[in-house]
Amino acid sequence: MYLHGTSIINAEGRLEIGGCDTSDLASRFGTPLYIYDEQLIRTRCREYRDAFQATGLNFQVAYASKAFCTMAMCRIVEEEGLSLDVVSDGELYTALQAGFPAGKIHFHGNNKTPDEIVMALEANIGCFVVDNFLELQVLNELARARKVKANVLLRISPGVDAHTHEFISTGQIDSKFGFDLGNGTAFRAVQETLKLEQLRLLGIHSHIGSQIFETEGFRLAADKVTRFAAEVRDQLSYTFTVLNLGGGFGIRYTEGDTPLPSADYVGAIADAVKTNFAAYNYPLPEIWIEPGRSIVGEAGTTLYTIGSVKDIPGVRKYIAVDGGMTDNPRPALYDAKYEAMLANRALEVEEEVVSVAGKCCETGDMLIWDLALPAVRTGDLLAVSSTGAYNYAMASHYNRIRKPAVVFVKDGKADLVVRRDTYDDVAGNDLIPERLMKQPVAK
Ligand SMILES: *Cc1c(COP(=O)(O)O)cnc(C)c1O
Repeated sequence: MYLHGTSIINAEGRLEIGGCDTSDLASRFGTPLYIYDEQLIRTRCREYRDAFQATGLNFQVAYASKAFCTMAMCRIVEEEGLSLDVVSDGELYTALQAGFPAGKIHFHGNNKTPDEIVMALEANIGCFVVDNFLELQVLNELARARKVKANVLLRISPGVDAHTHEFISTGQIDSKFGFDLGNGTAFRAVQETLKLEQLRLLGIHSHIGSQIFETEGFRLAADKVTRFAAEVRDQLSYTFTVLNLGGGFGIRYTEGDTPLPSADYVGAIADAVKTNFAAYNYPLPEIWIEPGRSIVGEAGTTLYTIGSVKDIPGVRKYIAVDGGMTDNPRPALYDAKYEAMLANRALEVEEEVVSVAGKCCETGDMLIWDLALPAVRTGDLLAVSSTGAYNYAMASHYNRIRKPAVVFVKDGKADLVVRRDTYDDVAGNDLIPERLMKQPVAK
């Protein structure tokens, strides 16, 4: 397993993150446990900011909170000077409860409900990233009723396929997201927005996919979007002041993944934007990006306790952990690959190849196939790396399994930022109608 951020193997031969021995964390907080390397999160935030500062562009880096949205995370994002993307009332609520400045919140989503829009208008958020014509109308009406103006970016579908897994690519023409650039829909959306009095159009938004390892897709998107901006200026006399190029910057899950430094993505985007806008003699807009996975993914590690072991001689050895698809659905959803190590015996030589099974009642609940480990014993701790993005965020209560706790570790200190679910968190919303109440047995 690759050691990200502050992860080391300590003198006792155990995995240590943020100066905390993972064996101690397991005893103190129990397993499964999501462990976040706070320093690495902060470093990632700063890398994006520093890279933009070096370009001289006006910019906003908005953390796409859907990757991992908790109140403590929102605090770090604010401290590091980033903006925040939300895609639901629940994420918006989390950010507001954490005291995140509303003016730096951007609201995404292809089907925002009227209630969500009202909540965001009343909080006076910074900007709505509008996805479709219905939303334009509803937002305009709800803003008029409140006598406010809403800042708007239009999400366009640029028709760029960023060469990624088909389930997580969103830039191609056949997508549920955004106004299509190629067939004139995006142009009509701009015309429509400019007619709506309660909306203040800032610019356009494009997001081409996820887990992208090259800069070419961003260049292509920047090219298309600039040409569109020039067309809008020439035909409608309207100049965009914001260009948002989305997120999707790749991270390392396994050795097959080859992410670029954040500065490379930012540099390529800045070069493309500067060149293109100069070519059209167009005033440079503010450039926004929205990294999610690359801020938190590598900072997260999930710690499990190994329980049952099933050896099928000549076929395969399964080791089962005390979590699975409920805390990490990505292998089942996307066939995602992960690396892992024995956290309590991290220096011992690999002796066997095992496959890591979850504890859910699904044959597909497998976390890792064919993992080389030292001879595994029941009670060992298994650490799976790069679980910081879309793990806790996608966790479910399938099989009524309680969601794990989340801790932030830094400089030898571990702080609980989400407590482990209680039984009440799984069954506490259940109601038994009167007619189903258990009757006292008649004597
Ligand atoms: C999911 C998403 C992001 C973040 O994507 P990552 O792959 O996590 O960086 C950014 N912008 C939009 C619109 C998204 O839907």
